[in-house]
Amino acid sequence: MANRNKHLNPAKIYEPKRCWVGETHKIIFDTLEEAELAAEVAAYDHDIKTPLKPYKCPYANHYHLSST
Ligand SMILES: [Zn+2]
Repeated sequence: MANRNKHLNPAKIYEPKRCWVGETHKIIFDTLEEAELAAEVAAYDHDIKTPLKPYKCPYANHYHLSST
């Protein structure tokens, strides 16, 4: 019986865009909505009581989450 999870093709794994903010390599979100959605998903997945806060990147025209 094949385990589908072992069939991941490394070339097809989604690599999120990232941006250096200070010492951190942060994931880039193109829109505020995208960042908010990701924060909700992360909060749900990790059972986080206080969701991450999306904010506008001070260096470019995109968004980041407060602790990614
Ligand atoms: Zn940025």
